[in-house]
Amino acid sequence: MKIPFVDLQKQYQEIKPLIDERIAQVLTHGQFIGGPEIKQLETELSKFCGAKYSLACANGTDALQIALMSLDIKPGDEVITTPFTFFATGEVIALLGAKAVFVDIDPETYNINPDLIEEKITDKTKAIIPVSLYGLCPDLEKIQRIGSANNVHVIEDGAQSFGAITEKGNSSCSINDLSTTSFFPAKPLGCYGDGGAVFTNNEELANKVNSIRNHGQAQRYHHEYIGLNSRLDTIQAAILLEKIKLFPKEIELRNIIAKRYSESFSHKLKTQKIPSSAQCVFAQYTLEVSNRDSFLNNMKEAGIPVAVHYPICLQHQPIFKKLGYTNIHTPHAENASTKVVSIPVHPYLEENQQELIINKTLEFAKA
Ligand SMILES: *Cc1c(COP(=O)(O)O)cnc(C)c1O
Repeated sequence: MKIPFVDLQKQYQEIKPLIDERIAQVLTHGQFIGGPEIKQLETELSKFCGAKYSLACANGTDALQIALMSLDIKPGDEVITTPFTFFATGEVIALLGAKAVFVDIDPETYNINPDLIEEKITDKTKAIIPVSLYGLCPDLEKIQRIGSANNVHVIEDGAQSFGAITEKGNSSCSINDLSTTSFFPAKPLGCYGDGGAVFTNNEELANKVNSIRNHGQAQRYHHEYIGLNSRLDTIQAAILLEKIKLFPKEIELRNIIAKRYSESFSHKLKTQKIPSSAQCVFAQYTLEVSNRDSFLNNMKEAGIPVAVHYPICLQHQPIFKKLGYTNIHTPHAENASTKVVSIPVHPYLEENQQELIINKTLEFAKA
């Protein structure tokens, strides 16, 4: 039995005629950049998450960069975020010459601890980027209140969480001043290449994002800003228009599998805590083991793919050390980075595969 970490082939087989037809339509009309599918997708994304404005772009990293650029983040500014995330979150802050200020996580959810944010706000703080890690939102409403009270914009990095719902009942990518997501193939809602989107309810920011993603122009050849070439391909939008129809069912399937895992591991292993009224989209199913190296080896030998998200806190990455990020202590994030492992949770895992994953995890994991 060979278990894939993410099964995109099986998903394609489920909707092959629909996807093929959509792609054929784009090949026929020939508007490969800015085709009608882009606007259609943006409308569907807004319907799905409730954000007033959805703006597709080339990938989730650009989405974050565009969001920061729309706030005029510049050298000397400070941006508060979590050190326990994919590199891109910190990378875009540094790319714009700003300083990332790392705040420790809640060890139960692995998300930024909102109670530690306010003490890090200074005159230079221009933005806060909470990351909805593994598909679970932190208390984004509370973080927005903290931001608004201090005149600091909040950007949700929802690369892993499109489709998630907060404990208070709001959709990921609809709550904060700006939100971003990624359609990288392995994300919960992935396309067949790179893709991303920026979301906002603010018309002024939406217009600015719209310009920045297309060389800073609102009108052709009239450039208001220094921008990027960061458009979503029409073919990717067409693919997403089919995949978004399948997405609610896939979220449900991921949750059924995750629930089975959590019940099996309960009182035996520490897993990500999901507040009972929240909906996680389980981009990853993550647990902690104290013997990670041997666990990874044993699982691989048993034919079960496993991954580590993420083994190194951002301030400990070689480039951040070089940039002077030293003496930054985030003990909960550092502890998690040495123990976390993710096991497959994609919606097309068969029951016997789930059972094998559960049994082997229990066999090899030391709490
Ligand atoms: C995947 C990811 C990104 C980057 O998205 P890309 O589409 O790969 O550029 C940013 N932040 C987080 C938390 C991610 O998981």
